[in-house]
Amino acid sequence: MAKRDYYEVLGVSRDASEEEIKKAYRRLARRYHPDVNKDDPEAEAKFKEISEAYKVLSDPKARAQYDRFGHAAFDGAGGQGAGGFDPFGDFGGFGGFGGFDDIFDMFFGGAGEARRRSAPRKGADLRYDLELSFEQAAFGFETEIELPRTEVCGHCHGSRAEPGTAVRDCPQCGGRGEVRESRQTAFGRFVSVHPCPRCRGEGKVIETPCRECRGSGVVSRRRKIKVKIPAGVDSGFRLRLAGEGEAGERGGPPGDLYIYITVREHEFFRREGNDVHCEVPVSFVQAALGDEIEVPTLSGTVKLKIPEGTQTGTRFRLRGQGIPDPRGYGRGDQYVSVRVVTPTRLTSRQKELLREFVRAGGDGAPEEKSFFGRVKDALKGHA
Ligand SMILES: [Zn+2]
Ligand SMILES: [Zn+2]
Repeated sequence: MAKRDYYEVLGVSRDASEEEIKKAYRRLARRYHPDVNKDDPEAEAKFKEISEAYKVLSDPKARAQYDRFGHAAFDGAGGQGAGGFDPFGDFGGFGGFGGFDDIFDMFFGGAGEARRRSAPRKGADLRYDLELSFEQAAFGFETEIELPRTEVCGHCHGSRAEPGTAVRDCPQCGGRGEVRESRQTAFGRFVSVHPCPRCRGEGKVIETPCRECRGSGVVSRRRKIKVKIPAGVDSGFRLRLAGEGEAGERGGPPGDLYIYITVREHEFFRREGNDVHCEVPVSFVQAALGDEIEVPTLSGTVKLKIPEGTQTGTRFRLRGQGIPDPRGYGRGDQYVSVRVVTPTRLTSRQKELLREFVRAGGDGAPEEKSFFGRVKDALKGHA
């Protein structure tokens, strides 16, 4: 079943503020809460859907990921690359969720296993696709890209507390991050352990959340980043910019940014490794008599001597006119293939001269005997 868009689930626009998202969530959660819809089996599924959407959209980091990659952002939990963010990884599923809303606590409180969330965690990696022209790829390119990402809040430096205010051990769980609940039932006594709803399993409570990031420790930014593409890159090349990905959590390092290169085709040049290939048309007269022709290269036009009697398909090499090796191993070559063009519109004077040429004894056709002789020999060999 296709997953519904999170914004659609909450009935808010894509640029809805955090406050609007929260309001929409509260309204829907009240309506579909399983406790008030006991005879409606669909309400529970609906409620889960609403909760999931809210969990992602209320977290600036998760929301930024979702805006960029959609539901794919959360596939392959814990994986590398663009999809590396896992909204449920910290909690081991919905069971561990809790804390900021009473409804949540009622519904999810008993299930799941408490887990401390105090370990630093590296930020997610980001991917940016960059298309280059043939020349930009060949000679290197400097540009500035702009992308949304999360960064550590500059006001609280990621501590999530307003500077100068206290961070204390949680009074409800005594700093353990989990609470135990024992229940007497007909089958005996059950003890369940679940994340502390007050501190969300962290063991610490912030008295005054940072007013810049509203206590999340990160802020969403559109950031301009200078990118220097080395000369010689080709399609499929991946450039890594260490530390330019999403902000880390709890003091963890930021993720990396990967620039994926695609190179547009050139109308004249074709690339093979670090070599450049091209085809140059010449007239049959130039091919027969030899000539000096002009050949475009990546760095301007050069002159190329073609000897008399040049055949179509003959390849000439221009040493060092190819593409610089991205690892610095010199430069490739350029290969120029000649294509002899047969004239299609001759004047009667030109036709007369060509007939004269044939009468002079050189019709220019392949030497018949040797050619047909070779064909006959080849056929005999297979008889
Ligand atoms: Zn802050
Ligand atoms: Zn606590």
